[in-house]
Amino acid sequence: MPKDKRKTIVHRDRVVTIFPYAKGFKPPTIKKCRDAIENTKKEVHFDALAEFFPPIPPPSCEDDWLAMYNEPGQTFREFTEGTPWLSSRKRRYTQQKFVSKGVDIPSKYPDGVICLLPIGDFDSSNMHPKFEVLAAYTKAYIGLPVTILPSVDLEFDEKTSCAYWSGLGKGYSGNVLDEESAELQRNYTKRTKLNARFDRATGTWQLCVDTVLDKLRSILPKNALCLVALTMTDLYCDDTDLFVAGMSAGNRGVAVFSFARYDPALTFSTEFWYEMYYSKAITVKERKKLMLQRSCRLLVHEIGHLLGLDHCIWFQCCMNGSGHLAEDFSQPMSLCPVDLHKLQALCGFDILKRYSELLAFYKKHGFKEEQDWVTSRVTHITKGK
Ligand SMILES: [Zn+2]
Ligand SMILES: [Zn+2]
Repeated sequence: MPKDKRKTIVHRDRVVTIFPYAKGFKPPTIKKCRDAIENTKKEVHFDALAEFFPPIPPPSCEDDWLAMYNEPGQTFREFTEGTPWLSSRKRRYTQQKFVSKGVDIPSKYPDGVICLLPIGDFDSSNMHPKFEVLAAYTKAYIGLPVTILPSVDLEFDEKTSCAYWSGLGKGYSGNVLDEESAELQRNYTKRTKLNARFDRATGTWQLCVDTVLDKLRSILPKNALCLVALTMTDLYCDDTDLFVAGMSAGNRGVAVFSFARYDPALTFSTEFWYEMYYSKAITVKERKKLMLQRSCRLLVHEIGHLLGLDHCIWFQCCMNGSGHLAEDFSQPMSLCPVDLHKLQALCGFDILKRYSELLAFYKKHGFKEEQDWVTSRVTHITKGK
């Protein structure tokens, strides 16, 4: 994009440079944003006060999400009318128990769980987010049961530049061991070559998402609502990619994501995928906290997608898209009223109970800003009731 397309404006008393939106994208009016919530009963927990839900700022660089994509947005009504999860017919590719009379996921799919799968090393560094913590956050945020599958090892053979999925001996414990489950277990533990690339000079590996997604499809437990694999190994999709944060095969309910680029002490080359440096001065405590916070946010955003939530164009929201890491890191952990309404319709949770569980989590892990936000939000809701 030529430089003359940028404009300087005053936004909230600050002079900022903005870039044009992607061709065809028009930011929604306040009325459209409010209508998208479909808060027909005027419930206080779905109101859209600007102090809690500010509008999305205009793009500040040409790589920003809304400078690149003409996002249509998804209203609450569009979501509920289109989602297969709330249909009276069982979702495609799902083999678990189904109750057509149910009104939300817990009543329609009573055995359903969100499965998280660790791929490769998560324990050797104190900086890596702990899986139990990620699972606890997911459970509080989404309001569905979460289970952690036995971890899978990655083997790297530098001589041949090959990487292998190695689930050997990890004792996969899916459902009852009928023939199909036995097949899942066999696939789970079968050593499988994964597409990967290796840079000999720096000793850096990247896994290609395609073979990982194939593998995940073959091991999806029957009671899984979705399966999210997480890894500390960097990922790519096309040979020309610098990296990708992850990829999902949404209709099959599987996805893989990497936290490799979430360490705030790292600096990356914008040219070569294998060049990353530990260069930034940051305390261990702050580094751990940011790493966890970024990982938690990515995880619930992606599970949101797997459950059918599209990118949000209505308010600043955990479901906003991001064009690059800096934009990703600047976005909130909270859900706007449109997406909170969607998730609540899907998962059937009590809004205040969800907030109190999130508050306990934020307190425990020192997420001060989120803690303050939830506290004020709960005070506002309780007063308005
Ligand atoms: Zn997204
Ligand atoms: Zn939203």
